[in-house]
Amino acid sequence: MLPGVWRHAPGILTTSLQTLVNWGRQNSLWYMLFATACCGIELMAFGASRFDADRHGMVPWGSPRQSDVMIIAGTITEKMAEPTVRLYEQMAEPRYVISMGVCATNGGPFWQGYNVVDGVDKLIPVDVYVPGCPPRPEALLHAIYRLREKIARAGLDRARIREARGAEAARTLSGTQG
Ligand code: SF4
Repeated sequence: MLPGVWRHAPGILTTSLQTLVNWGRQNSLWYMLFATACCGIELMAFGASRFDADRHGMVPWGSPRQSDVMIIAGTITEKMAEPTVRLYEQMAEPRYVISMGVCATNGGPFWQGYNVVDGVDKLIPVDVYVPGCPPRPEALLHAIYRLREKIARAGLDRARIREARGAEAARTLSGTQG
């Protein structure tokens, strides 16, 4: 057995397992069927045959409980704020949110409206923002790739920090003993 392998084995195993889990997550992002305004039409186009979201592992899903991604496609009015938060809370962890279009991101042309939430991130955390009014399905696909990169990195930094701390503690210990 190579010297020192066992000392690093837990870190190596944890990092590899996390990579495998992240790979599975990023390639199977079921998105919730939820749209509140005209951006929803672009979301439908994204799922239709021309762009074919399924080939990216993105399955449209009718329930928040098995959905991984919530795509906020459209204006969020004050009336829709509470159902939006409720749907988000019904999703299992880890859950992701994409804000699609300027209305979802900051209220868009309706930002001064008394009944419009000027940014869905005032209600729930957003992972990726898609600019445009309306953003084309290609823009949404671009956002999906950015989200995948984010998922691929998830947890790995923490594992590396733990590993580095472990190595530092071992060095300190061996210095004390030496
Ligand atoms: S961003 Fe434009 S297309 Fe999308 S919901 Fe707002 S007004 Fe409609």
